[in-house]
Amino acid sequence: NFVSAVVPPGEIGVRFNDIGALEDVKRALNELVILPMRRPELFSHGNLLRPCKGILLFGPPGTGKTLLAKALATEAMANFVSITGSTLTSKWFGDAEKLTKALFSFANKLAPVIIFVDEVDSLLGARGGAFEHEATRRMRNEFMAAWDGLRTKDSQRILILGATNRPFDLDDAVIRRLPRRIYVDLPDAENRMKILKIFLTQENLEHEFEFDKLANATEGYSGSDLKNLCIAAAYRPVEELLEEEKKRALNDVAPALRPLKLDDFIQSK
Ligand code: ATP
Repeated sequence: NFVSAVVPPGEIGVRFNDIGALEDVKRALNELVILPMRRPELFSHGNLLRPCKGILLFGPPGTGKTLLAKALATEAMANFVSITGSTLTSKWFGDAEKLTKALFSFANKLAPVIIFVDEVDSLLGARGGAFEHEATRRMRNEFMAAWDGLRTKDSQRILILGATNRPFDLDDAVIRRLPRRIYVDLPDAENRMKILKIFLTQENLEHEFEFDKLANATEGYSGSDLKNLCIAAAYRPVEELLEEEKKRALNDVAPALRPLKLDDFIQSK
């Protein structure tokens, strides 16, 4: 149970369509992962179209890296295994080698599989010099050895997908093993609008809700910030209704929830 989740492709519950914006990232992942995993026969000839064993997603927190990893597994029809760098190194100091070996032999059985390593910098960060714990160093070396040991035939169906907010902390040896690095950026106004539309499709919004105004008012927000803002705004009519109820006599007609207004979002910032 050092792996936080093993999920078969049909049970992940997230698809590319649930992710707003990030069109270039989805396109790159389609070419690098989805096609080779779904149609390996198209990539098995010659030398040019070799599948890559490792991809790094990097960028600010909350921009959808974890969400992308999960949706990617759904789209590629691969099992999804998720491990978190900091949990591995803090919890499992003693058994580093054994655990890493188990993870990779497990992966072989699960292929096609995407092994998502969140906070890859804490597992495979720059060599920590004199202060680095011996077990962390052993874990890293073991991980890299097992990774290098994947046979080409298997590597088509086993992908290590790392994610980090701190790409500069990564060791050169790791960077080399993650030859494809994809920047997952904060959304601009147009993309914030796309993301907001995904979160708000099911909501009761005021007539002609001004998405563009909300998108312009949320400069610097990540997808995760936008989600939190929407949740906070959605509470406002509920709070109002509860206040209303307090003021009414018991047998008055119950008030209804009003639609969400742009102002709910602005007030919730
Ligand atoms: P961290 O670096 O902090 O781990 P992350 O980049 O992995 O963050 P996620 O955990 O994927 O970010 O995003 C957090 C939540 O924000 C997601 O579960 C999702 O609800 C929402 N979210 C972020 N970006 C998007 C997006 N582009 N479209 C839809 N939802 C998004």
